[in-house]
Parts: sequence; structure tokens; C-alpha cells
Amino acid sequence: MTDDCIFCRIIDGDIPSRTVYEDEDVFAFLDVNPLATGHTLVIPKAHHERLDDLPEGLSSSLFDAVHALTPAIETAVNADATTIGINNGPAAGQEVPHVHVHIVPRFEGDGGGPIHAIEPDRPDPSDDELDATLVAIGEAIDR
Ligand code: 5GP
Ligand code: ZN
Repeated sequence: MTDDCIFCRIIDGDIPSRTVYEDEDVFAFLDVNPLATGHTLVIPKAHHERLDDLPEGLSSSLFDAVHALTPAIETAVNADATTIGINNGPAAGQEVPHVHVHIVPRFEGDGGGPIHAIEPDRPDPSDDELDATLVAIGEAIDR
């Protein structure tokens, strides 16, 4: 818990929220400024800023909750699909520095784009560049 984190304060009950789900490790609540009806945020109860800060067990708990909640949310709001995403760091648009998974219900013809719409200026890598990227990621994997 950090006093200046709005999501920690929500978990603590200092700031009210519409709680969708709660267990020992995970908390889910309706986004106050939803992109679509049913837009839900799923967060670890412990304060961690980014996905990579989470201990392994906690990331499993977080994703298990996303897995369980997604079909329930789709059913509840009669959605055709969902977009699920994390703004992982300020450069990706993260405004609240407490890792959170967005579950955004989607509807046929809703006019929204796919995740691919986030990057208007895409690279066009050569095979060599793709290979170099693959090697770099392989070397960086720490497990
Ligand atoms: P981010 O841009 O950090 O990925 O998303 C933060 C999300 O948190 C936004 O969608 C915003 O609407 C939501 N949010 C910010 N403050 C509050 C709050 O006090 N209560 C709730 N329920 N959602 C919040
Ligand atoms: Zn926090």
C-alpha cells in the first residue's frame, strides 16, 4: 500500500469503487471512466508498478482472475468480444502506477480498433533485423 496510489486507496476502501471481484491477492472494479459498458480493471492487491515487477505467483493469480472474469463480463453486458490490455509503463500510456489489466467489452460495429491501432508508425523489419530482435529477446529471457 502506498498512500499516494489511487488504486491502493481503492483496495483499502478509502476511495469507493464498484467492486466486481475480490480474492486474497486480486481486486477487480469498474473503471470510473469506461471505454465501454462493463470496462473492468483487474489489479493485484499489492502495490507493483509494472507487470515485470510482479512476483511470478502473483502474475498467475492476476491472469487467472482475468481468465475467470472475462466471460462473466461478456455475458453480463452482452458483449461480442473483449479487448484485454495493459498499459505497461508511462510511454505506453499508463497513468496510474499500479499495474492493472483493462478488460474492455467489444460489440460488433462498435467502431473501435484492434490492438494494432495503437501504433500508426510501424517498423518494416528485414529478415536480419527480425533475427537480431529474436536473439536479443532470447538473451534477455531470465527463466
Ligand atoms: P491507465 O491509463 O493507467 O492504463 O488507466 C487508468 C484507468 O484507471 C483509466 O481507465 C481510468 O478511467 C481509471 N481510473 C482512474 N482513477 C480511477 C478511480 O478513482 N476509480 C476507478 N474506478 N477508475 C479509475
Ligand atoms: Zn498501488
